[in-house]
Amino acid sequence: MHSSAKSSVLVIYTGGTIGMIKDQETGVLQPFNFDNVYEHMPSLRLFDFSIENYCFDPVIDSSNMQPKYWEEIAGVILEKYESYDGFVVLHGSDTMAYTASALSFMLENLNKPVILTGSQLPLGMVRTDGRENFVTALEIASAMLDQTPVVPEVAIYFENQLMRGNRTIKFNAENFEAFRSPNYPPLATVGIHIKYNHAAIKKPNFRKLRLNANLCKDIAILKLFPGITEKAVRAILGINGLRGIVLETYGTGNAPTEPWLIDALSCAIKEGIIIINVTQCQGGSVDMEKYQTGLALSKIGVLSGKDITTEAAIAKLMYVLGNYKHLSDIRTMMVTPIAGEMSKED
Ligand code: ASP
Repeated sequence: MHSSAKSSVLVIYTGGTIGMIKDQETGVLQPFNFDNVYEHMPSLRLFDFSIENYCFDPVIDSSNMQPKYWEEIAGVILEKYESYDGFVVLHGSDTMAYTASALSFMLENLNKPVILTGSQLPLGMVRTDGRENFVTALEIASAMLDQTPVVPEVAIYFENQLMRGNRTIKFNAENFEAFRSPNYPPLATVGIHIKYNHAAIKKPNFRKLRLNANLCKDIAILKLFPGITEKAVRAILGINGLRGIVLETYGTGNAPTEPWLIDALSCAIKEGIIIINVTQCQGGSVDMEKYQTGLALSKIGVLSGKDITTEAAIAKLMYVLGNYKHLSDIRTMMVTPIAGEMSKED
C-alpha cells in the first residue's frame, strides 16, 4: 500500500465488535471492509509503515472461536512471517484471552509482535474504544529498537495496557478496561507515550518459527463448588476419551477432602488423565502444600498450575496433549513454564 514504507504490519481480521461500522444508507452495523481502511481512518496514512490485511471469510463473533480458527491465524502468521515486521489480530473480546494463550503455545520461537485487540464499542460508533485500541496496537506491532521488535511475543492491547496474552482474563463485560493480567505486570502502559516495561517483555531467541498446530480437544474444566455431587464429578471424569482436566479449586488450590472426591480424581489419574489444579481466584497461585485440603490432591498426583489462568491452562493442555506422547513428558511440560504463562519457582 505505501511503497516507500520502511516496515509493514499485517492485520488479521477475525471479526468481533471492533470491525463493525454503520452502513451509510441503511444505518445498520456491518463488518468493515479492510480494503478501504485508509478511507475510514485517514490518520493511518501518517504512519511510516504500510498496513495490509487478511480477513476471515466469514468474520466470526469470537464466541464461535474454535481451534481450527487458531490454526488459521497461526498458519497465516507462519506463511507471512518473513514479509511483515509485526501482526495485529482484530478479535472479539469474549474469547480473546483463550486465543492469545493458544497462539503463544502454537507459535514456538515467535520473535515478532502478535498483538491482539478488539473493542467494547464498534469502530463505527462515535464513542468507540476501537479506534485507539487499533491505532496503538499497530504502533506497538511495528515498534523496533536496534532493528529488533520491541515486543516479540503474543500480547493483548486493550484500554491503555499491553499485557502478555497468556496472562490475561476478560474480567469486565461493560467497561472499556475489559482485560486484566492479575499475575504478571503490564508489558507497556500507554498515555502520551508508550512506556514499555522492557524487563517484563520476552527476549527474542532468534530460532526459526515453528507452528504447533496439533491440539487435543479431549479435555474439560471441572469447577468445584460447595455441594458438588459425586455423580456430577464422576460424569465429567468418565467422559469417553477424556485426556485432561483443568480442576478449578478454591483459594490456594484446595478441595473438599471427602473420600469419594479424592477416589474419583485418583482413579482418573491412574488411568492416565492429566489433572491440573488452577485456582478459582483471579489473582494468586496454587500452593497445594499449604493446607491439608490441597495436600490430599498433591499426594494423588494432581499437578499444580501455580498462577496460570484457566484460559491459559486450557490452551496449554490442548497443546501439550497434542504434541507430546509420553505421560511423564506431558506431566513435566504441564508444570514447566513454556511461554511465560506461569511464574517460575522462587
Ligand atoms: N461477542 C463479541 C465477540 O467476542 C464481543 C466483542 O467483540 O467484544 O466477538
